[in-house]
Amino acid sequence: MLEERESKEEKIFVLRNIIEIRIPKKDYERLSSRYSKEYIVSNYENKRVLNKVTGRELVFVTKESGIPLFGHSAFGIIDRGTNLLQVRCISGCNLNCVFCSVDEGRKSRTRKTDFIVDPDYMLETLREIVNFKGEGVELHFDGQGEPALYPYLEALVEEVSRIKGVEVISMQTNGIPLNEYRISQLEGKMDRINLSISALSQEVAKKLHPGYPLKKVIELAEMIANSKIDLLIAPVWVPGYNDEEIPKIIEFALKIGAGKRFPPLGIQKYIPYRFGRKTGKSMSFREFYEKLEQYEREYGVKLILKPEDFGIEKRPSLRHPFKKGEVYSGRIVSEGRMHGEKLCVSNGWSVAVISESKIGDFIKFEVLRTKDGIIVGKEV
Ligand code: SF4
Repeated sequence: MLEERESKEEKIFVLRNIIEIRIPKKDYERLSSRYSKEYIVSNYENKRVLNKVTGRELVFVTKESGIPLFGHSAFGIIDRGTNLLQVRCISGCNLNCVFCSVDEGRKSRTRKTDFIVDPDYMLETLREIVNFKGEGVELHFDGQGEPALYPYLEALVEEVSRIKGVEVISMQTNGIPLNEYRISQLEGKMDRINLSISALSQEVAKKLHPGYPLKKVIELAEMIANSKIDLLIAPVWVPGYNDEEIPKIIEFALKIGAGKRFPPLGIQKYIPYRFGRKTGKSMSFREFYEKLEQYEREYGVKLILKPEDFGIEKRPSLRHPFKKGEVYSGRIVSEGRMHGEKLCVSNGWSVAVISESKIGDFIKFEVLRTKDGIIVGKEV
């Protein structure tokens, strides 16, 4: 569980293949004569903790850290006022897709910090919110990055599957960190995997996401389709890149038996976001839906999906105390997800605040956004 290696200046430990702990060599050598490596790794204060996959600082979100699991888009729980809760345990991605809406991966220019949530803290908070939401809740593991990089995924899924009121557990993934063993660990607890496959030819896959292990992902798709977990294939249609791949992906999904309980495909239209990557040609929603209708007729499969197709219905959301345009105060607890941003705790919520102040400072901020319980502010 704890690998170790060294650079010129640092002793490096890697916990569970993702959490990289870096300690200056001279400090480590001094301490190692008196303490065990496990003790040093846990207690040495000036260590750097990084996400091994992205190389960014990794903030451990524990109950003791005092960082709430509501309010932020990069970690915690997102409640958009339905019976579906988005569960975000880790940020950061192993790919660098040219169409990524959150500019993820090691090549990101906008993301500065990653977050990982303690599984016990997540479990305790999920128990409370599911209790508030009532029966028939879907927990959907997703995130700004790849959820299967979370090293406690299988253990957490097992625990949450026992929560009364949880009816469906699903996950969005690029599939790369998964394997036969991990799928078998999720079987019987996870109901659906939304697997993103945006190309079936090596040439197009390489253009969309350099270094993409296409063969592995195809094998994984077949493995999931043959397991007790339902498979939904979720390509992103990037005009000018993978137009010819879409019908091939539809045929593939139908051939391998995706969609036993849920729809087999969830084709998404590429949308250029402000802080995402921009690529490809533009396609209007009208054109997108017309093309989907045409494929629906051709293949006899439902491609235009509605929340009802997944049993999603409106439910009251957790109330937050913020109003757009008003000023609140809070304390900065860590670096922010993006450059020029800090993570601030205010009124029991996590808030992403545009700020140049330091960790530990108390600040005042104006709220810029509260939609879907994601709170964003700007220091005033
Ligand atoms: S699109 Fe998904 S898989 Fe690709 S880099 Fe972004 S988060 Fe990762």
